[in-house]
Amino acid sequence: MEDQIDTIALTIGGRSVATAQRFDVPNPATGGLAGTAPDVGQSELDQAVAAARAAFAEWSAKPDAELQAACNAVADTLEAHAEELAQLITAEQGKPLGGIGSRWEVGGAVAWARYTAGLSLPMQVLQDSNEGRVEMYRKPLGVVGSITPWNFPVLIAVWHILPALRTGNTVVSKPSPMTPLASLRMIELMNEVLPAGVVNSVSCADTDINMGAAMSAHEGIAKIVFTGSCGTGQKVMQSSAETMKRLTLEMGGNDAGIVLPDADPEKIAEGLFWGAFINNGQTCAAMKRLYVHDSIHDAVCDALVAYASNIKVGEGTSDDSVLGPVQNRMQFDKVSRLVAQARDKGQVLLGGGPGEGLFFPPTIIAGLEADDPLVCEEQFGPALPIIRYHDVEDALAQANALDIGLGGSVWSQDTEKAKQIARRMECGSVWINSHGMIQPNAPFGGVKKSGFGIEFGEEGLKEYTDIQVMFA
Ligand code: NAD
Repeated sequence: MEDQIDTIALTIGGRSVATAQRFDVPNPATGGLAGTAPDVGQSELDQAVAAARAAFAEWSAKPDAELQAACNAVADTLEAHAEELAQLITAEQGKPLGGIGSRWEVGGAVAWARYTAGLSLPMQVLQDSNEGRVEMYRKPLGVVGSITPWNFPVLIAVWHILPALRTGNTVVSKPSPMTPLASLRMIELMNEVLPAGVVNSVSCADTDINMGAAMSAHEGIAKIVFTGSCGTGQKVMQSSAETMKRLTLEMGGNDAGIVLPDADPEKIAEGLFWGAFINNGQTCAAMKRLYVHDSIHDAVCDALVAYASNIKVGEGTSDDSVLGPVQNRMQFDKVSRLVAQARDKGQVLLGGGPGEGLFFPPTIIAGLEADDPLVCEEQFGPALPIIRYHDVEDALAQANALDIGLGGSVWSQDTEKAKQIARRMECGSVWINSHGMIQPNAPFGGVKKSGFGIEFGEEGLKEYTDIQVMFA
């Protein structure tokens, strides 16, 4: 691959759009540039929305089997270009190519696209009797605006775009300015197999205008599907109020894991590590606080630190890197601040200090309590606080005390007991003896201020439709 990618363009109405301005996309591993991306404004957004609206009439009228075939064609083209997309993700996002890295992300995107292609929402007969017949139809909404974050740029865009297409909507997609390259390239590829205007892209440095805000307020967009932080999600809700947009808001989490006294520290260490440090902790439903019972606290800490000590951090292009750098300076500074505050109060069991550039060693800090910032703020990085508890009711109360609730987990040898605790956790997904594993057939979403709306499976598909009931 070239050292720096300056050729990836916007796609509007099926055509590659040349843009006068481009913005720099840093490579977080090297401190150099991964490439440049088109920097456009309101006029290109208007063009993209107009193209998506123009394509909607024909696309939404296609027979269901054709929509399904088109989604499968998208999956095929992503699979055929998997290595190219993985290289782009590593260049701009930083994660390793191998392991649970870029190739894994693109493989997940292909699997999600195929699974979504196979779903359908057929008409339902609600009543068929002497009193009459009642039929329920699911109708597409129109143009869906997709706004994505920088942690899984390709996978999350597929989570947004494929269910929209499958249900007959057209799309305008906006990647994070931190990681636009792989997403824009993916949309170029999708346009090789889709009719013009069905999927369009815009990208923006967010200096002159805020493109996400402009999309949220746009008259021509019927729904916004947003994945990102809680604060930005609230802004999306505010700016979309006037146009009464449908919204799916997948926002931040601060997931708790609770280790019960009967858990086996050696057996759970690997799962605990990956639950917290997947994608360097830059994962919405990663475990971000770990509550461990007093009786096995030290043994769990020892086993977790022993496992984590062997994890190699380095450039994503190097074969032996297991974790890459933190993706951007702002996030790096946030993790550094939270860890520095935690260091004063707790015991650093592993890591603890920033490394070179944006590299931050996996950090585990024990001896922290509910009010410590590393516990109550979402760190979204490679630093895990461990909190000792004596009474599981207290651990549960602390886990539920925050105003967000994306995921949670319970770790125990007694699955039934763990399930009883898990049912009382205030979050959208809860795992027993693992954390954060999501799959395309399991509805996913947050409770409380982690957002609303569901992704994945039939429940997720429904979010891209309005109901029409026919009394015949
Ligand atoms: P962010 O909120 O900073 O940005 C997300 C997107 O919103 C970007 O594309 C950004 O350009 C855009 N944006 C910025 N200002 C906007 C505005 N005023 N209106 C509309 N859009 C705007 O989030 P991030 O830092 O890219 O991602 C990290 C956050 O995302 C974390 O909090 C993480 O927990 C969350 N996240 C949630 C999920 C989930 O499924 N719930 C998944 C991944 C990440």
